[in-house]
Amino acid sequence: MLNNIIANLNQIIFPKSIYCICCGSVIDSSRSYSLCDSCIEKIKWVGGNTCEKCGRVLNERTHHRLCSDCRDFPHYYDRGYTCAEYSLYERAIVSDLKYNDKSYIGKVLGNILADRMLAEFTADELQAKYDFVIPVPISSKRYETRGYNQAEIMARAFSKLTGLCLDANVLIRTASTEAMKDLSRSERYSNISGAFEVTGHGKDVLPGTTALIIDDIYTTGATAGECAKVLKSAGAERIDILTFAAGGDRGRFSRHLLTKKVNEYRKEDNEYAKTGQND
Ligand SMILES: [Zn+2]
Ligand SMILES: [Zn+2]
Repeated sequence: MLNNIIANLNQIIFPKSIYCICCGSVIDSSRSYSLCDSCIEKIKWVGGNTCEKCGRVLNERTHHRLCSDCRDFPHYYDRGYTCAEYSLYERAIVSDLKYNDKSYIGKVLGNILADRMLAEFTADELQAKYDFVIPVPISSKRYETRGYNQAEIMARAFSKLTGLCLDANVLIRTASTEAMKDLSRSERYSNISGAFEVTGHGKDVLPGTTALIIDDIYTTGATAGECAKVLKSAGAERIDILTFAAGGDRGRFSRHLLTKKVNEYRKEDNEYAKTGQND
């Protein structure tokens, strides 16, 4: 009880915007994206060679133009864009947004998404390119427990900055699927199959259009692909996908390199845990 009162008082004395959205340390509210200098440096912003299909950062040893996943599997969507590589810090941010009731992080991520696209296209080009922005919907059951759709908050902030029209009423999630984080690639695809439906309004507005789907993370592309599939079956011509973070190109590591990579992540995990901000 006392803890609750103290927490509430802290909310009044220290409004949320002055906390780093990644590590929670107090920052000056003018900082870009509500991130402290240390976290802004640790986030693996997308740069260099990226996959021409899904947009994730390519394995540095590859000579291919597509990541190993896009070379092995076709996708229903047309083109993917992302802002960062999904690693430890990005995971902490997304998990706070989705599971720790910190909906305000969605707005910050929406601003990051807008800057990502505006770095590559002008606002006019974006408006010529897309008819509207569609957030990946969550099921009504999940909406009841979470209280908000994080992708919709992101999409709202994104559309405000880019001037693109937001339409959150074309697609619904009819099935409440299992959380995807512990599922394999094929399990993710069968888990999500048939989970989305185009609404009556969607059927009216979709034919002949190009839309940009917004979601928090991209892993195998199962969710993005399923949304693209149903939107296209309702007449949409082109579907692109924009996320905050995408898993790196797994490549085809040798066993030795894979062990090395796992140890690097463990080391990073331990270092992060030492800061005491992980829980
Ligand atoms: Zn920080
Ligand atoms: Zn790819």
